[in-house]
Amino acid sequence: MKLVMNEKDVHKIIELAKKSPIEVCGFLLGRKVGNTLTVEEARETRNRLNSPVEFEIDPLEIAEVLDEAEEKGLEIVGIFHSHLKCPPMPSGKDLKGMNLWRNVWLIVTPSGEFRAWTIENGELKELEVEIR
Ligand SMILES: [Zn+2]
Repeated sequence: MKLVMNEKDVHKIIELAKKSPIEVCGFLLGRKVGNTLTVEEARETRNRLNSPVEFEIDPLEIAEVLDEAEEKGLEIVGIFHSHLKCPPMPSGKDLKGMNLWRNVWLIVTPSGEFRAWTIENGELKELEVEIR
């Protein structure tokens, strides 16, 4: 599987991360065709934990985003969030979340690093990210 994103969306998420004293988070809306996940929109949400070391998205906001995606004919292909002080690799808590939300997890840092992860057959896998 690979994740295809445009430069504008990646830039937008990194800029959010740079400006925020807490972890930023949101969803990647797009389409899945074969083994390629194409992101059409990065949709920011609130981090209801207001924390620099973890994030959580309000279920009501998740429902809102699902509705928005449906209206646009898109699906939620991934989740993004930032790590302020750690490398863009899933934390223990992220791994638990990944087992619930089995789509792609994009993690960015304020310094501009980004990596995408997924769990496949119970194992953490890194995905190629193609920027267009
Ligand atoms: Zn994390």
